[in-house]
Amino acid sequence: MIVPGLLSRARGAFLGFAIGDALGASVEFMTASEIARAHDGCHRHIVGGGWLRLKPGQVTDDTQMALALGDALLEANGFDLETVARHFLAWLKSKPVDVGNTCRRGIQRYRLDGSLISAFSEGDAGNGACMRNLPVVLATLNDAELFERWTLAQSHFTHNHPLSDAATLALGHMTRVLLLGGSRADCRAISDKLVAAHRTFRFVPYPKNTTGYVVDTYQTVMHGFLTTESLEDCLVKVVNLGGDADTNGAIAGMLAGAHYGEEAIPARWLRRLDRAVRKRIEKQTEALLDLNNQGG
Ligand code: MN
Ligand code: MN
Repeated sequence: MIVPGLLSRARGAFLGFAIGDALGASVEFMTASEIARAHDGCHRHIVGGGWLRLKPGQVTDDTQMALALGDALLEANGFDLETVARHFLAWLKSKPVDVGNTCRRGIQRYRLDGSLISAFSEGDAGNGACMRNLPVVLATLNDAELFERWTLAQSHFTHNHPLSDAATLALGHMTRVLLLGGSRADCRAISDKLVAAHRTFRFVPYPKNTTGYVVDTYQTVMHGFLTTESLEDCLVKVVNLGGDADTNGAIAGMLAGAHYGEEAIPARWLRRLDRAVRKRIEKQTEALLDLNNQGG
């Protein structure tokens, strides 16, 4: 495989993320057998619908929150948590089609008392912080320490749990390494470290849990990414497992896009993706990469 250039990989990651969201949302909260019955054996087209009754190509909270975080980084010309909080609140006020419970609670807390950090909570081990972190990855490509600091700060605004932190850091580091030209073997090494620290993330043999619990999401994404050989196969495999299919699909699309590049995204999917979202992603990806050249 010819290694695609940085811009192709970065656009691949963000567009792959949004496409995983749009593709998976049609089957969110269904079981694998329900999906097979409803979609002639396999769900592989962006058709909208699902429990949110989406238009074909429409994205959900996953992509919208990532774009809100990206806008905040660009407005602040770097990281400012208050700016991030303001963008998340503006997004919540825009009456989004879906909002995760932990995300809503965190944003409402900020609205009421202005606080920027949620206290540790056992219930905060959902995948909501992890799903929206790609803009931080894009803006901190050359600085691993900065990546970790910004990641934890944006995560703790809504999710304060060591398993959420560990998965968000690991998946972000994998995406960084892929964007910088690394391989799936490098991702495996990052994953091995995570599993050594937290055995619960083990995904071989794959336990087939697909809820929004960050451990389930991590296992499902890694299983899909490491057992397929194309972006299309990776996304189809992950979303057809059902459960939190849009979020699992989005995160898998981020890794697969960073690995295979924009050119690997099937044209039929790219054509279907909401045009305004696609435009915003393309602009934001370049602008976020530019933040790397401004000395932090
Ligand atoms: Mn969603
Ligand atoms: Mn979801």
